[in-house]
Amino acid sequence: MFELAPSFFELTPEQEGTRRQAREFGEREVAPRAAEIDEQDVFPWDLWHKMAQPPYRYTGMFIPEEYEGWPRKIFDICLICEEVTAAGKLALAGVLMEMPGVGPTAILKGGNEEQKRKCLPPIVRGEGMGAFALTEPGVGSDAAAISTRAEYVNGKYVLNGRKRYTSFASIAMWVVVYAKTGPTKGARGISAFLVEQPNQGFLIIDRVPCMGARGHQDEEVLLQNCTLPKESLLGEEGKGLKYALATLDETRTTLCGGFIGLARAAMEEGINYARERVVFGRPIAQYQGVCFPLAEVAVEIEAARLLMYKAAWLADKGVRHTAETAAAKVFASQVLLKATNLAVEVHGGFGCTKRYPIERMFRDGRVWVFAQGTPNIQKLIVARDLFKPIRIE
Ligand SMILES: Cc1cc2nc3c(=O)[nH]c(=O)nc-3n(C[C@H](O)[C@H](O)[C@H](O)COP(=O)(O)OP(=O)(O)OC[C@H]3O[C@@H](n4cnc5c(N)ncnc54)[C@H](O)[C@@H]3O)c2cc1C
Repeated sequence: MFELAPSFFELTPEQEGTRRQAREFGEREVAPRAAEIDEQDVFPWDLWHKMAQPPYRYTGMFIPEEYEGWPRKIFDICLICEEVTAAGKLALAGVLMEMPGVGPTAILKGGNEEQKRKCLPPIVRGEGMGAFALTEPGVGSDAAAISTRAEYVNGKYVLNGRKRYTSFASIAMWVVVYAKTGPTKGARGISAFLVEQPNQGFLIIDRVPCMGARGHQDEEVLLQNCTLPKESLLGEEGKGLKYALATLDETRTTLCGGFIGLARAAMEEGINYARERVVFGRPIAQYQGVCFPLAEVAVEIEAARLLMYKAAWLADKGVRHTAETAAAKVFASQVLLKATNLAVEVHGGFGCTKRYPIERMFRDGRVWVFAQGTPNIQKLIVARDLFKPIRIE
């Protein structure tokens, strides 16, 4: 039988339990509040605290046990992201599952023992969160071109520049900030710094309301003589972009779970509406013009899931999976956009009103696909593998 939910891939009884639990979290904790979170556009701290509690412990799922974490395989995190988002019917549900990975993974990749012991356990306990500041007003996809500078002066680093789209900057207990220590060295001149809050030189200058994925707090940061002890450098000078890209390989894979989950939720709305809505004397599901596109997207959801499973499986084996993850993310992005658009179409004019949750999912999907690298950038990664050694720009 063809279903929207994962039905074919052989999951262990533990993985089925993980999925059931994630569904319960999404249904019980997120779905009833989805409209309110979207309306208020404020980060729901209480959900973060609940995520940290047993039996979930989602705040520790990217973090090893020695830092009080509750580590899970990337494959299992994909299952969790998909199920929480599908049941929660809200992009922020998936963002919540990603945030324990986005900041902490950069510290795990580049940080020393002291930085890990200081920064990671409070995240696991749900006491705070970490953020990631790479994007700037002038630079998004071309990360090597960032202009934020870090100068080493009298034994300290002094950062100056601007960051845009730093999710949760104002509420994070620390932020991994990327800045140039070698301005003429391109990608090899970027270093990563741990900026603990509060810091007088780390100023939130704007909070930009976003059409979707609301509650994620898109903030603009001014780094104005932001002075840091030399111990704030993560890893080595010039290796910052390497840590950022290694982080994205992992969190982009799990992000696909969120995209697939939201696509599923949108399709469920579309299918249910098509069963019930009667036009010209029949439920519209009986018209092939309505049910064929729904069937096509249902097939694509399954294909997106299999691409994600492959990338996750490689990640868990410790095999390089940058292109496989990019392939999974570009396909999952397309499916998310198609599913949300189609479900609005099936609802007719009502689908564009606040009376139906598909209106929110449509806005959420449109925004979310840009997170952690646009669809075109994922195609660029795949194309570079395909055409090696020709350089694709
Ligand atoms: C919900 C959300 C949360 C985010 N959170 C964070 C965060 O916490 N921290 C952070 O640092 N950033 C964050 N971002 C920013 C995100 O990483 C950037 O939006 C993304 O990298 C793209 O950058 P840009 O928006 O500046 O687009 P640009 O790089 O300006 O691209 C504009 C368009 O040009 C296309 N394009 C660019 N180069 C090429 C090329 N070579 N070939 C073909 N097409 C190309 C792109 O695909 C895009 O369609 C977040 C974004 C979203 C949506």
